[in-house]
Amino acid sequence: MGSARSIKAPEGTRDLLPDEAAYWRNFQKVAIEVFGRYGYQPIDTPIFEQTDLFVRGIGEATDVVSKEMYTAISGGNLRQLLAGEPLRTNARLSLRPEGTAGVVRAVVQHDLVPQGAAPVKLMYAGPMFRAERAQKGRQRQFNQIGVECLGADAPSIDAEAIVMLMRFFAEIGIRPSSMRLLLNSMGCENCRPAYRGKVRAFLDEHNGELCETCRARKETNPLRAFDCKEPGCAEVMAHAPHITDYLCDDCREHYNLVKELLDAAHVFYEEDPTLVRGLDYYTRTVFEVQVIDGLGSQNAIGGGGRYDKLAEEVGGRPTAGLGFALGYERCVLALQAQGFEFAPVQSCDVFVACVDESLRHEAFGLVQLCRDSGFKAEMDHQGRSLKSQFKLADKLGAARVAILGPDEWATGQVKLRDMGTHTEILVSASDLPNALSRALL
Ligand code: AMP
Repeated sequence: MGSARSIKAPEGTRDLLPDEAAYWRNFQKVAIEVFGRYGYQPIDTPIFEQTDLFVRGIGEATDVVSKEMYTAISGGNLRQLLAGEPLRTNARLSLRPEGTAGVVRAVVQHDLVPQGAAPVKLMYAGPMFRAERAQKGRQRQFNQIGVECLGADAPSIDAEAIVMLMRFFAEIGIRPSSMRLLLNSMGCENCRPAYRGKVRAFLDEHNGELCETCRARKETNPLRAFDCKEPGCAEVMAHAPHITDYLCDDCREHYNLVKELLDAAHVFYEEDPTLVRGLDYYTRTVFEVQVIDGLGSQNAIGGGGRYDKLAEEVGGRPTAGLGFALGYERCVLALQAQGFEFAPVQSCDVFVACVDESLRHEAFGLVQLCRDSGFKAEMDHQGRSLKSQFKLADKLGAARVAILGPDEWATGQVKLRDMGTHTEILVSASDLPNALSRALL
């Protein structure tokens, strides 16, 4: 009789086993704490949204939307489609490939920034989904933490968010010297179209040297050629016109103020006029944080920028916005490259051991008493000998073992053994939680 074929997690996904799952929760706690100091409050939006939100918000010509979304048509609508009926626009749902579009949709839907109101500052954490070619640091389901600030276009919002992002990376332990912060301005609807035209004309001149993808991109999204990894295209793009030479006065002033504020905060950055980032919604400031070694080509641990047109794209009134997202898995890879390991989860404060089988019921009651008093308590469930109960207690990292023996139990007492010093004291069973408090807290 053959055993059933074993089923593995889908390609590009990863199980977070207990030590790491605990670390991921702690990572989020640090983010809530750090970003909370800057006024950011948590928001949770659905993991899937109407496909149209991403098409309109992120842009149809982006890789994320055109190639990488997981899109589903639910049962009833699928029947409609098969019957040849046209699909309603809300019948198509996609797993979110990023967090910004959903948060902006929620801000518009719930009118979180009424006219004249102070900006709203929101943060999220959770899984994102992109059907990419999986490799180290590039998954199909990955976790991001991100922030969005809507309702203010001041450069101080951009600078504050960048300072905050670098602060977070430092607090989780990524060495500042191992990171570099790249900064650019993408201009606005007034200056970018002319620049985009310049890049298109430049690409036309070099058509013969470009890869097929860049030739196609030239029409839809010429700036994406800056991100092409083909050596020929990279060579061409090294000589392409720079957006920073074409910024309008307002965008230039905005960019200069962001840089001044970063200088004042002693946050070091490198200006990179080729940084265009993959999503269509960015205007003005864009930034990316990369780690210098250990991550290979997937070296961006976070990035973001300003998106002053996005709220309108998803049906809201004009509302300035700025945000960033950081990738949890890549932060872990960066930390591991520095020697970081997950701390084992301490799962047991006290182990209740039985000298003989007849006291199991009493042990069961005592374990509940300890748990109800807030201690992590465990007992054996497999009929082990006393010796192997001790071994198990050790393995679980129990600081104390409460030993139930018939003689002590006859007087309502248990022995409480300190697993560090091997000393034992007698305590009354009903007083065990107090004895543990005195010993452990
Ligand atoms: P993006 O939304 O593309 O700007 O990504 C923001 C951050 O999310 C990146 O800097 C990465 O750290 C992380 N990230 C993006 N795509 C992936 C992926 N496929 N797998 C793992 N992390 C990712």
